[in-house]
Amino acid sequence: MTDHVFDVAIVGAGPVGAVLALGLARAGLDIVLIDSRDPAAAPAADGRNFAIVTGSWRMLQTVGVTHRLETACQPLHGLEAVDGGHHILSPPSVLFQDSDLDSPFPEDTLGYMVRAEELQAALDAACADATDLTRLAPARFVSLGTQPGFTSITLDGADPIQARLVVGADGMRSPVRNALGIPVEGRDYQKSVFTANVNLTEPHNGIARQLFLPEGPFATLPLPGDRANLAWYLKRGGAEALAACTPAEIEAELNARLSDFCGPMTLDGKAGSYPLVLQIATKITAPRAALVGDAARRVNPLAGQGLNQGFRDVAALIEVLQQAQTVGLDVGSAPVLERYSEARRFEGTAVALALDSIDRLFSNDATLTKPLRSLGLLAAREIGPLRRWLAKKASATEDDVPGSMQAW
Ligand SMILES: Cc1cc2nc3c(=O)[nH]c(=O)nc-3n(C[C@H](O)[C@H](O)[C@H](O)COP(=O)(O)OP(=O)(O)OC[C@H]3O[C@@H](n4cnc5c(N)ncnc54)[C@H](O)[C@@H]3O)c2cc1C
Repeated sequence: MTDHVFDVAIVGAGPVGAVLALGLARAGLDIVLIDSRDPAAAPAADGRNFAIVTGSWRMLQTVGVTHRLETACQPLHGLEAVDGGHHILSPPSVLFQDSDLDSPFPEDTLGYMVRAEELQAALDAACADATDLTRLAPARFVSLGTQPGFTSITLDGADPIQARLVVGADGMRSPVRNALGIPVEGRDYQKSVFTANVNLTEPHNGIARQLFLPEGPFATLPLPGDRANLAWYLKRGGAEALAACTPAEIEAELNARLSDFCGPMTLDGKAGSYPLVLQIATKITAPRAALVGDAARRVNPLAGQGLNQGFRDVAALIEVLQQAQTVGLDVGSAPVLERYSEARRFEGTAVALALDSIDRLFSNDATLTKPLRSLGLLAAREIGPLRRWLAKKASATEDDVPGSMQAW
């Protein structure tokens, strides 16, 4: 082991850890980024496409990544939610549009759709090019031990290292969180999300559409051209079984069940499935340690907020650590971590629980809940200030978002 003590060791170079590393290195902190993935290998094929909201996109701009994504992304101009339960009149719905952002920048959109593996490849390339960043990969985090003034980290595949602060950005199973002994709370929905890309026969006009069905939502998320990424919530086992069918069988099922909503479609590539769980860490800091992204919470992906919440963690942590460094405070000290916890713990948990409540409210055909959700959709559609407030919240464009999420 060398005597060198990094300011921050980030475990996990997924989208959240990579953006944090780029942002902190840019702020002048001495950073080491550790990941068990082989950096020479292309990111694994992935059925997810992320809706990156405006504030998150601005943060990708701040850390110098958006120019690597421009040809791969699809601007998001609208978000529509339709109640697909049984209704006597036409189903209630709401449409959020770019204009609801009330932005002084006419080019602002609600966000961008980006394929998961393209985002990861762009971030890997940006980290490889960053000369102010130390990368250790492939290197697997094994354990940590806190000493006075720093934490020592044991790795498989590299020598041990030392840092004033260790950040767990290592995903929902988070070995760092486990090593810190932080428990999680939540539930398994006993559902999975079926994902596939399709060619549509009707133009999507950059609008992401979500149909709330009694078993769970079905979403068409716009991709470049007249293509879309589908996310369809099904009972656990059902999504996995459908993803394992032949392309012709999948196409037949999609068209039989969902073409009334989005028109006829043909499959484009391989289908996949993801188990649906809600998981919230009971705290997001420990002595000389912090959690970000899915390590801190895994939310229901129904509103495309998971990664965006992770980016909010990143923005808050960059702001807190940058301020600590400016006034000469130890970045791993308790008062600094307390500020990060205050900024993110309550809000992150509140969003996770709100998404869970939306899922409970919409994923049924019960007579009692129908008027309630119709009222909610109607209020959001008809009350302009409420719709604009929701649009700003969901797109991370409130006036008080941290600096790295603001326009520049
Ligand atoms: C179907 C689906 C659709 C979604 N759509 C959206 C969306 O539209 N918008 C949105 O905002 N979110 C969305 N999400 C949520 C999003 O996928 C996650 O929130 C996001 O991927 C979390 O990123 P992360 O960097 O925290 O974790 P991860 O991407 O899991 O990265 C963790 C990293 O840690 C590394 N690692 C793990 N263990 C170790 C170890 N021991 N040592 C070293 N490294 C380690 C891994 O190699 C990996 O690189 C969706 C999720 C699903 C399932």
